[in-house]
Amino acid sequence: MTPGAALIRDDYGHRLGSQNILLVEDSRMFSSVLSHRFQTELGLNVTHCASLRALREELAKPGHAFTMAVVDLNLPDSPYGEALDHTIEHNIPTIVFTASFDMAVRNRILERNVVDYVVKGNEFALDALVSAVRRSISNRKMRVLVVDDLPSARQVLIELLTAQQFMVAQAGTGLEALQALETFGDIELIVTDHHMPDMDGYELTRRIRQRFGSDRMRVIGVSSSSDRMLSARFLKAGASDFVYRPFVAEELQCRIANNVETLMQMKQLRAAAACDYLTGLYNRRHFYDQGPRIVSDCLRNGKPSAIAILDIDHFKRLNDTYGHEIGDRVLKAVADRLYKIFEGSENLLSRLGGEEFAVLFSAMDSEAATKLCDEIRSDLSRVKVTADDEELSVTVSIGVAEITDHETFENYLHAADQFLYMAKHKGRNQVYSDARMTEEAAQ
Ligand code: GH3
Ligand code: MG
Ligand code: MG
Repeated sequence: MTPGAALIRDDYGHRLGSQNILLVEDSRMFSSVLSHRFQTELGLNVTHCASLRALREELAKPGHAFTMAVVDLNLPDSPYGEALDHTIEHNIPTIVFTASFDMAVRNRILERNVVDYVVKGNEFALDALVSAVRRSISNRKMRVLVVDDLPSARQVLIELLTAQQFMVAQAGTGLEALQALETFGDIELIVTDHHMPDMDGYELTRRIRQRFGSDRMRVIGVSSSSDRMLSARFLKAGASDFVYRPFVAEELQCRIANNVETLMQMKQLRAAAACDYLTGLYNRRHFYDQGPRIVSDCLRNGKPSAIAILDIDHFKRLNDTYGHEIGDRVLKAVADRLYKIFEGSENLLSRLGGEEFAVLFSAMDSEAATKLCDEIRSDLSRVKVTADDEELSVTVSIGVAEITDHETFENYLHAADQFLYMAKHKGRNQVYSDARMTEEAAQ
């Protein structure tokens, strides 16, 4: 999380940008609206071609690198979809945007293995197209596992999913599927057949559900059986969805997209629940959720760890003098600085609440953490916030406790809080810890 930064992100919170999209469209209205939306909503660089001739010239240039293309099927110099053949020949994943549509056109489009198609002609078409582009870009970061004992049936699914831009892993048996989940830690969607020699689809689904909830792993059952109870049994075993073979490509694609969207919404909810609204840092809940696991990993691996609580000095006075809004700006400035200091490190930073922050240092003993905290203390005292032509700054007090034994997470925080109290008591704008106490005792 980057506090305060307005980044364009895809459905999974990944940063988009510096990707190139080719827009082949002769309508000025569509091309200007789409160019604008691709740039502003998806952060894509757009290259626009209004004719087949312009497309040919563009693709003849050396070193072009298009993430994907959106192609209007009918252009004045390409009445039969020749532009589509061109982007496909150049291996550019393509979404078709077409005004003329019937089953013959549909079949011709699907034969080309396109990512998707969107029919012009209602007020939702532009939104649908932007969503299709967004989806196809974010699908590239999602791994799907295809499970089927029949290689040809597996291949049909693999081709369909690959066209949707997913990363695809495959398994020929239930046991291979469970093994693949171990091998690839990032599988989030499984499409599985029912009749398989070692384990049927229900059993595989139940085993998957023992390990993953439906908020993290979606399971879609497929089968060519004519038994109508099959879908009900799959869903009762914990599957998220079911589709009968032979597939209608669009139906399977929409069901997959719906399941992926659910996963994405769950991720957004988890991210929002872990985030502090004012500063964008992790919040207390996340710190208490993740902290105990990090501590026990350190203890088990014989690595030292330490916990620090940082509290802004005389913050109430600042609020009383300058108002709550300025107080908030100071909190954000301190949080931004802390974020930059800890960005990319293994240490867990959070805002505990009010003007209190906590850091869990993994693989660092109290002495090193105390030293680092003292540098942070001095760094934060140089953070400036301008209010009413005045430059404001604050100081912080920090308590640091070493974690050496298995105790409750609450106890570690309590120890750090005790040291924070000592730092305040000794005059503020300082760091107090067991390391410093030992030092003082030796003097
Ligand atoms: P000390 O040096 O002993 O820490 O004194 P202090 O004034 O910083 O501590 P105290 O706990 O008395 O006051 C903290 C103040 O922080 C009180 C509260 O109004 C303010 N505060 C808590 N949360 C927020 C917030 O989100 N925004 C703003 N602006 N102020 C907040
Ligand atoms: Mg304070
Ligand atoms: Mg306080």
